[in-house]
Amino acid sequence: MKPISRRDMLSQAGLLGTAVAVALPLAQTAADQVAKQSPAAKPKRRVVVTGGHPGDPEYGCGGTIACYSDLGHEVVLLYLNRGEWTDKPSYDPAPVRVAEAKKACEILKARPAFAGQIDGKAIVDPAHYDAFHHLLEAEQPDVVFTHWPIDNHADHRALSLLVYEAWLRMGKRFALYYYEVSNGEDTVQFSPTHFVNITGTESRKRSACYAHASQAPDKFYALQELVARMRGIESGHKQAEACQQAGSARLGQ
Ligand SMILES: [Zn+2]
Repeated sequence: MKPISRRDMLSQAGLLGTAVAVALPLAQTAADQVAKQSPAAKPKRRVVVTGGHPGDPEYGCGGTIACYSDLGHEVVLLYLNRGEWTDKPSYDPAPVRVAEAKKACEILKARPAFAGQIDGKAIVDPAHYDAFHHLLEAEQPDVVFTHWPIDNHADHRALSLLVYEAWLRMGKRFALYYYEVSNGEDTVQFSPTHFVNITGTESRKRSACYAHASQAPDKFYALQELVARMRGIESGHKQAEACQQAGSARLGQ
């Protein structure tokens, strides 16, 4: 991985101001700006946070999601699958995974939605590009988050491609951000352009992640928390989440 110099850190932190203009709930200044406006003037944005499996949006973006909810924006957590196991017909964990996702969404004040693919068997082909495009079009999002495309889980990579294709077909009319999950284990070679201070929302993120009780939260939340502390050090906060904006100069580096 390319080492991050102090100059890099400063330039990344400097992007916070840019991010406010493209709808990330980043610094305190973002909340302050909205709070100063009259209720009628507050721009209510539609935010869709996509994830391969129940739990991915919560682990990668839970603090950011809580920031959006607190600012009064509508947030949808769109899961590619329901966490089902088709290889073991005698045991289907999907009902448990869906119930956990609904509980997590309640904690984050978001709405769950499911794209109907199968865990471990994500498909990227013309028919599924069409289906996912229509699903996203129906949500009319202003902002969309998805997995960084270089990821050790095939479902995450598939979702990233489906979202990117929809973004192109929709004329890039929503802001698109890539997020990381368990950096180094799933997401790899990720280089952020933006940071969200989640110090004030981390406790709700933790609760939402622990709502996925069947998914070993003690192990995986500890790992994700390390990532949040690392991003916090980079951006000057106690804990932060990082993302990269599609079309930014860092993409492809
Ligand atoms: Zn996943």
